[in-house]
Amino acid sequence: AAKQRYALITGANKGIGFQICRQLASRGMVVILAARDEKRGIEAREKLKEFDNVVFQQLDVADPASVAAVFEFIKSTFGRLDILVNNAGIRGVDVAGDVSVLEEYIVADCAFFEAGGQVEEPFHPKAEGKLVETLKNAEECIETNYYGAKRVTEALIPLLQLSDSPRIVNVSSTLGSLVLQPNEVAKRVLSSKEGLTEERVDEVVQEFIKDLKKGKVEEKQWPPHFAAYKVSKAALNAYTWLAAQRHPRFLVNSVCPGFARTDITFNHGPLSEVEAAEAPVKMALLPDGGPSGSFFHRLEALSL
Ligand code: NDP
Repeated sequence: AAKQRYALITGANKGIGFQICRQLASRGMVVILAARDEKRGIEAREKLKEFDNVVFQQLDVADPASVAAVFEFIKSTFGRLDILVNNAGIRGVDVAGDVSVLEEYIVADCAFFEAGGQVEEPFHPKAEGKLVETLKNAEECIETNYYGAKRVTEALIPLLQLSDSPRIVNVSSTLGSLVLQPNEVAKRVLSSKEGLTEERVDEVVQEFIKDLKKGKVEEKQWPPHFAAYKVSKAALNAYTWLAAQRHPRFLVNSVCPGFARTDITFNHGPLSEVEAAEAPVKMALLPDGGPSGSFFHRLEALSL
């Protein structure tokens, strides 16, 4: 019989993470469904009651104590981890007024990305709404999407090292592509593989926070909207590459699940949660010898 495999999915009480749990559980993995809120996590686990191979575990990726407790839980219960899916994420913006403005911005960014950043049309959304990006939004977004994923990864590496085929999937976004990153320093540092270190990635992120606090987002040419989200996911992609170099036996990739109808998008977008879970699941199940250190848009490899 095939060896039992253990998978942890963060931010798994709803949305794409929940569907990743379902898809991995239906393939016979032992799934650790992690959620920051105990009640929401237990309710989610309840929705998968047809499976006896799903366990709930509390995990707030922004809380080091909670991350340490997950390490202890997995170590004492299963003894190792085979698959880590860093899925927990927040959008980093609020919307005032008509929420469909969020979709208009995402669609405009995706079109810009698909054109390789070649056309830069002035963008005037039609919806009567606006994106609100406060310092608090931005700091929480960076803390969850980048530092959270990194914190969980670093803590669980010793358990992944005990696996025959360790896999790390970082759920990222096309919006983290450097095509959408006008700040030249960020673009240069995060795209260079030569000389890239975790310290340099952190410096870029800290520089963004510093400029944000000083009101210099425009002057320093950080993205005109979704700035924190774009910086958080660009940093996550760079970290993915670094982690892949540091752990040659692991397959570590970041993947954009596609634009999907979940709470993060106010239920806008062409894909269902089920469809969006497919690419991260595929990355979690990559066979030995598969790609590592890459950034995918769904199943298509991208350059950073
Ligand atoms: P949802 O908002 O539906 O789900 C986000 C999940 O992350 C929730 O379970 C949420 O928990 C959890 N979460 C937030 N903060 C923390 C934290 N500090 N610790 C632990 N869990 C946390 O959005 P999606 O399912 O769409 O998002 C999943 C991932 O996919 C994100 O990383 C997102 O950036 C990425 N993505 C999504 C796209 C889309 O179009 N939907 C496109 C590209 C990327 P809670 O319920 O407690 O808030």
